[in-house]
Amino acid sequence: MGKLISEWRAWANRALSEYEPLALLLFPLAAFLLASLFPLIFRLLDHPGSIKGALFSIVMAILRLIPGVTGYIEREKGKVVDKLQASVKSGRENWQTELPRAGLGIGVLERLKFEKSKDVQWKGRCSGTVYIGGSESDGHFSLINEAYSMFAHTNPLHLEIFPSIARFEGEVVAMTASILGSREKTSGGQICGNMTSGGTESILLAVKSSRDYMKAKKGIVKPEMIIPESAHSAYDKAAQYLNIKLWRVPVNGDFQADVKAIQRYVNKNTIMIVGSAPGFPHGIVDPIEELGDLALQFNICLHVDLCLGGFVLPFARKLGYPIPPFDFTVQGVTSISVDVHKYGLGPKGTSVVLYRNHEIRKHQFVAVTEWSGGLYVSPSVAGSRPGGLVAGAWAAMMSVGEEGYLEATKKIMEVSKTIQQGIKQIPGLFVLGRPDMTVIAFGSDEVDIFKVNDVMSSRGWHLNALQRPNSIHICLTLQHTVIAEDFLKDLKECVIAVQENPNAFEDGLAPIYGAAAKMPDRGTVQDLLIAYMDSTC
Ligand SMILES: *Cc1c(COP(=O)(O)O)cnc(C)c1O
Repeated sequence: MGKLISEWRAWANRALSEYEPLALLLFPLAAFLLASLFPLIFRLLDHPGSIKGALFSIVMAILRLIPGVTGYIEREKGKVVDKLQASVKSGRENWQTELPRAGLGIGVLERLKFEKSKDVQWKGRCSGTVYIGGSESDGHFSLINEAYSMFAHTNPLHLEIFPSIARFEGEVVAMTASILGSREKTSGGQICGNMTSGGTESILLAVKSSRDYMKAKKGIVKPEMIIPESAHSAYDKAAQYLNIKLWRVPVNGDFQADVKAIQRYVNKNTIMIVGSAPGFPHGIVDPIEELGDLALQFNICLHVDLCLGGFVLPFARKLGYPIPPFDFTVQGVTSISVDVHKYGLGPKGTSVVLYRNHEIRKHQFVAVTEWSGGLYVSPSVAGSRPGGLVAGAWAAMMSVGEEGYLEATKKIMEVSKTIQQGIKQIPGLFVLGRPDMTVIAFGSDEVDIFKVNDVMSSRGWHLNALQRPNSIHICLTLQHTVIAEDFLKDLKECVIAVQENPNAFEDGLAPIYGAAAKMPDRGTVQDLLIAYMDSTC
């Protein structure tokens, strides 16, 4: 045995002596490098649309192998986190940390006014955020406030005490369903749902119902869901809360869900796929019909995220805009989320989740028979719920009416067109894809778009920073119908300012999810958590 080994050793050494020692050293290193790049190369082959992103990752992976580089990146990330923390802490002096000894009584209203005066002047200046038009002290705002305060102390958990709220909720759901295909013969007339606290809760409930429906129907116990990269982070939240494996699939060159790529991830554990109409980042509607076909083919659920588009697309279509199918008239669609607190012009904290039929929705409820507190049934995440918000949503929809929504949609679609054309005319900027609605994302090949965003912020604009690729967006609401000229003028000047003096602007800080885009080498989940937890109590 020993002889065999020494013979083999002699042979191997003889063979290797033909090579330079340096080559012998470098060869395994190169092989190791290549092996560590394999996953990235596969990603590149799989998604040719994301070549830039993949190349970036490859370069970063190689750089990280150079001694010292990882440390440098960590130090740079640390600086960003420190900066975030410092900016949060400096704003916290004199915060109340104990109850006042003597209550302020009615005097507390003065304090409320004082604190409110320090909030950002959002009027016509913030992307999304406030969707109702006009000023906060009159018009639709006052009407919503009055409806809210009239029912502020009611609770739909106690249906028998507040039949008014039960009726309002039922009617809000029915009216919402009626604009999203419940009246079409194709959908079978069973569309049903509930009000929730917002888009995230609507999505969470739709995912929960789909998971349990697929378990009952197909016996899936290790659920997986597949979403386009552009789908809202609420799906990550749902996946984490509900123990579902999540696949985030890159979008195609038009920033739409890539249906073929999604199909490659479908397996026997897939419970659902998702399409947005439109997606929050780029305001582009996914190909819902194709996703519907895919869902039918594999007998899985399809959730359509109409949080943003639910109260715009149906009216835009009526106004003659070319809007592809997006609602229950598409056969494969099993659930929909739609926010009343966005373009529904309701108070914050209102959304609707809809299902194609009772069979799916049944799985949303929690019913308890074993509790010493008695029989308990609850449809939503919250137990007690704010009846004032239900009344506020009802009041919004009833007071605006179909004509009101048509008029509002016309205004925001027109300002969207003006701003899209204006951005395209600013040298150095380009619009991402073809926006279907009122969200316009734009980027630049010439200037650092985040610096442009910082200069815009210094002028009082609050836009959203996006990543992959780096860009910013504005979500246009009724607050923006008169600002198109101001916005385009400021944007043009800010681009020129950065072009002329690219080094004069230090990297500022975007809001928390903008910060992710600004972290060197993209922020890790850990960085984001540290920064965020420090900004809350
Ligand atoms: C706003 C939005 C959500 C989440 O809604 P919240 O009300 O913030 O919870 C989900 N999806 C899309 C497309 C959205 O625009």
